[in-house]
Amino acid sequence: MKIGVLAVQGDVREHLRALSRLGAEPVPVLKPQHLADLEGIVLPGGESTAMWRLMRATGLAEALKRRLEEGLPAFGTCAGMVLLARKITNWPETFLGLLDIAVERNATGRQVDSFEERIAVDGLGEVPAVFIRAPLVVEVGSRVEVLARWGGKPVFVRQGQLLAASFHPELTQDTRVHEYFLTLCRKD
Ligand code: GLN
Repeated sequence: MKIGVLAVQGDVREHLRALSRLGAEPVPVLKPQHLADLEGIVLPGGESTAMWRLMRATGLAEALKRRLEEGLPAFGTCAGMVLLARKITNWPETFLGLLDIAVERNATGRQVDSFEERIAVDGLGEVPAVFIRAPLVVEVGSRVEVLARWGGKPVFVRQGQLLAASFHPELTQDTRVHEYFLTLCRKD
């Protein structure tokens, strides 16, 4: 199963590795033509504003938005969650804007405030979650399912084939969150 990893900036390698470990065929996505034949795409952590600027420059932003609107499954982690969100409370722009949540960017503080905690995920049990300048979800639409919370706030959400996490599952050895995403990508 070909799964893209948006590769303009951010922690691309770790996602490629997690997907390979699960037997998927991960593909780095840098240009619109790399979206062909994908069955899903991961939008990694990094810096959402920088990613968006680079994606706009190559036409990838518009091409990706179109594919997602057509139903390509996507999993955004951290900055990737910010890219997917309908609204960013502390930033003037919206990026892809397809997932009906409002997020606050950098809500867990600065890089030095990064931490790892185990959180309870619906259907998966406890998973290790690494938070680095993470966005927190401050509003969820009616079609959005909250799969995990941290400090009472949603940190792992799903709306149909769109999945988003405030944390970084790719920075741990636990592949269950990626495995869950792959179940959304399998159309059988
Ligand atoms: N603060 C970043 C952003 O909003 C996200 C940080 C991360 O992905 N670790 O783009």
